[in-house]
Amino acid sequence: MTLILELFQSSLVSYLISIFILGLLVGSFLNVVIHRLPIMMEGEWKEQCCELLNIDAPEKNETKFNLITPRSRCPACNSQIKAIENIPVISYLILRGKCSNCKNKISVRYPLIELTSAILVTIVAFYFGVSLQTLFAICLTWALLSLSMIDFDHQLLPDDITLPFLWLGIFLNLFDVFTDIESSILGAIFGYGILWLVYISFKLITGKEGMGHGDFKLLAVLGAWFGWQYLPLIIILSSAVGATIGIALIIFKSHNRSTTIPFGPYLAIAGWVSMLWGPFIMSTYLNAII
Ligand SMILES: [Zn+2]
Repeated sequence: MTLILELFQSSLVSYLISIFILGLLVGSFLNVVIHRLPIMMEGEWKEQCCELLNIDAPEKNETKFNLITPRSRCPACNSQIKAIENIPVISYLILRGKCSNCKNKISVRYPLIELTSAILVTIVAFYFGVSLQTLFAICLTWALLSLSMIDFDHQLLPDDITLPFLWLGIFLNLFDVFTDIESSILGAIFGYGILWLVYISFKLITGKEGMGHGDFKLLAVLGAWFGWQYLPLIIILSSAVGATIGIALIIFKSHNRSTTIPFGPYLAIAGWVSMLWGPFIMSTYLNAII
């Protein structure tokens, strides 16, 4: 009996370790997505604007620029980063956070994102076990992490990430992976609709734009994945997270109150937490008030 238990535990541990390593490797790729996707989008917009205005597009750089090419370079000295220097977290520690060529500091953000990716997907794998949910919840985790960082940097939630994940959520729930299809479709519609209503009312009252369309789409994604029943919780949680972080920023960094803090990361955090502990939080809350 103990032998079976040990075997189970060791296979569970090796399963989680493999997921953790996968999380580190993909985290390294997410760094590239977070850095390059906004640049690629900006390039496309410029081209479209020139086309619309009938202006000659600015000379195009002949070198291809996408998520795969060119290879990563040091932003300070432009020397190519060798494969051996690209091992998630470990390379950063060995190089002591400095470029091997010019000794300029490498941002601690890169290993932190790799680690965050690894820790989050390991929690997901532990929670859902070996299942279809784990596979897709891990993909969603990576999407939410990338979206949060891009929104934090550029106040932008790229359609290139939100829309495919919206359709994927609806498709998965055709097979009841996370919820039934009715809840999923209503989740997508209400998720988009609620924030759209908030946006329109805010604009009518104050004349200002409080949030971006990307936020509507992100909440639609979360509604499509987990069903409309999760939306109230996600909105309450994201406001709570937003208020906490906002107050912390004001206190600790004398953050200017009028600077906009993007809402996307809070929605993403709230969505991720609800994915794992939503039912628990909701039942605890209902028990508390009834
Ligand atoms: Zn360098």
